Amino acid sequence: MADIKITFPDGAVKPFANGSTTADVAKSISISLAKKAVAGKFNGELVDYEAPLTEDGKIEIVTKDTPEGLTVLRHTASQVLANALHQLYPEMHFGQGEASDDGFSFDTDNADHQVSSDDLPAIEAKMKEIVKANLPISREVLAEADALKLVDGDPYQTQLVKQAAAANDGQVAVYRQGDFVDLSDGVQMPSTGDVKIFKLLSVAGAYWEGKSSNPMLQRVYGTAFFNQKDMDADDVRRKEARERDHRVIGNDLDLFFVDPKVGAGLPYWMPNGATIRRTIERYIIDKEIQHGYEHVYTPVLMNLDAYKTSGHWEHYREDMFPPMDMGDGEMLELRPMNCPSHIQIYKHHIRSYRELPLRIAELGMMHRYEKSGALSGLQRVREMTLNDGHTFVAPDQIQDEFKRILNLMVEVYADFDIKDYSFRLSYRDPKNTEKYFANDEMWEKAQKMLKGAMDDLGLDYVEAEGEAAFYGPKLDVQTKTALGNEETLSTIQLDFMLPDRFDLHYVGADGEEHQPVMIHRGLVSTMERFTAYLTEMYKGAFPTWLAPHQVSIIPVSEEHQGDYAEKLRKQLAAAGVRVTVDDRNEKMNFKIRDAQTHKIPYTLVVGDKEKQDDTVSVRRYGHDESTSEASKDFLSDVLNDIASYSRE
Ligand code: ATP
Ligand code: ZN
Repeated sequence: MADIKITFPDGAVKPFANGSTTADVAKSISISLAKKAVAGKFNGELVDYEAPLTEDGKIEIVTKDTPEGLTVLRHTASQVLANALHQLYPEMHFGQGEASDDGFSFDTDNADHQVSSDDLPAIEAKMKEIVKANLPISREVLAEADALKLVDGDPYQTQLVKQAAAANDGQVAVYRQGDFVDLSDGVQMPSTGDVKIFKLLSVAGAYWEGKSSNPMLQRVYGTAFFNQKDMDADDVRRKEARERDHRVIGNDLDLFFVDPKVGAGLPYWMPNGATIRRTIERYIIDKEIQHGYEHVYTPVLMNLDAYKTSGHWEHYREDMFPPMDMGDGEMLELRPMNCPSHIQIYKHHIRSYRELPLRIAELGMMHRYEKSGALSGLQRVREMTLNDGHTFVAPDQIQDEFKRILNLMVEVYADFDIKDYSFRLSYRDPKNTEKYFANDEMWEKAQKMLKGAMDDLGLDYVEAEGEAAFYGPKLDVQTKTALGNEETLSTIQLDFMLPDRFDLHYVGADGEEHQPVMIHRGLVSTMERFTAYLTEMYKGAFPTWLAPHQVSIIPVSEEHQGDYAEKLRKQLAAAGVRVTVDDRNEKMNFKIRDAQTHKIPYTLVVGDKEKQDDTVSVRRYGHDESTSEASKDFLSDVLNDIASYSRE
């Protein structure tokens, strides 16, 4: 057979025998490269390290120190996991296995056994045996009928085989490790012995194909690395993430709960969480009013026709709750966005150019039918209240208004002490005509304007295609959650479409009708996501102005200083401080510890001496020592602390 020509990344071309593998190519370059290599990328596609190459092509060697290398390892780990599960529970059915940035997983059902976290040590031990056996891993391609025989009636695997066959001319790729054969679309390491450093982490329910109408499977999670140092660093990161997780803190501090039995993704705000939310709401409304916004209230239900006009029904229906047929010809829709509502406010009067920019704002409640698998605490919910605002501007006011919004956002971020964020310009994907309004000229214009404004301001950003709203491009402000996922917090969106669709006008200085441009913006996101974000950022130790309980007063003896404690409480409460007297029948040290556990910013201990001198012994959260202060000085200190939004 004739040689094949292999082109290297630097452009050099070398002949190799037909059927050579990535391993052969790597060895021909250097032994050290071959040691680090785990797979190849041939003509842009990931291939197994020992798969024969049978045509001319470009090669890249995928090494252990790349994200792709790690994915190959984790694909292998997930298959070792499936092998172990199969050996332990022969009747078990399998959903999909996956490798991710975070680790690997495999979905199982309970035909044989419902996997729980108690089983993880036994599964891990079985996996170690498979790793130790150092079984060679090979890829095989089967005809659909053979693949169906192989999966032996497993309902999920049968569906996966059919899907794979339909996409690949009736052929299905499988991977073999010893006697175990499994469907897999991910490239794998040469041997089970390569999965030396791994660990199983947890088990959680996951719907088949992510749809809540499908059966719930048990997803077993794990992670794997090429070296122990990376695994140790990952351990530390996971521990920190757990300490920050807003769902855990939300439970410890009794902030909120979500109960799928009464509605998945529909949070209940307990008094403590409600206090934080109310404080944010009051803050942001006041701030916006100072900056020229007019706050309104509009209904959460609207005639479906409005969403047909806006294009939501066409482009956003998947995320909307089904309409309610009222039986009299009227169809009502729970709003997924507030824009059409604010457009009604704009349209209610004839507008003059003198009114522009017209800034309409609302803490607007919206409903979105998020996939059940994506729901997470307060972070991603189905009912949410957005700090929403729509500015209607004349075309020549766009840049100026954009900068004003950005400045306001920076001011707000400073008050909450948010420092770790980055900008993303989100554009449409021009090929995705289903998701985006079709009007090339408008998109080009809007995208150019946004980019121009960011460049003018000299701000750094990344550009992301396919992340825009269906009606226009946006500037998203990206932050990271405790679990390391990137999420959008604030957003500023430019829109020429909705003003056109709803036929909006203002009377210009020339007496003629003109079309305004809309800027959609959310400063502190939804109350839900923002509270989740702040909880994680502060690790539950909210700064005084946001803390649900700001001061706890502990009398040394209820009998002797209870009256003094109550007098202090009244003074502080009258000044607007959130204060309680801890008069439970418990030891003083227990109460002090409890105030610390609940991360209350100030604990005041009052004994006879304090009562006599009208002083308090003050202990700040996170400090071991107390200081003595006149009670009126303490009051003014707390008020200063609250007013300055300080974080100590
Ligand atoms: P995402 O990409 O996060 O789904 P989006 O691009 O659909 O959001 P927008 O329509 O711009 O979001 O909504 C405004 C803001 O509302 C988002 O920037 C985000 O901070 C917040 N938000 C969106 N969806 C949710 C949700 N399901 N739960 C909580 N907050 C949300
Ligand atoms: Zn909007």
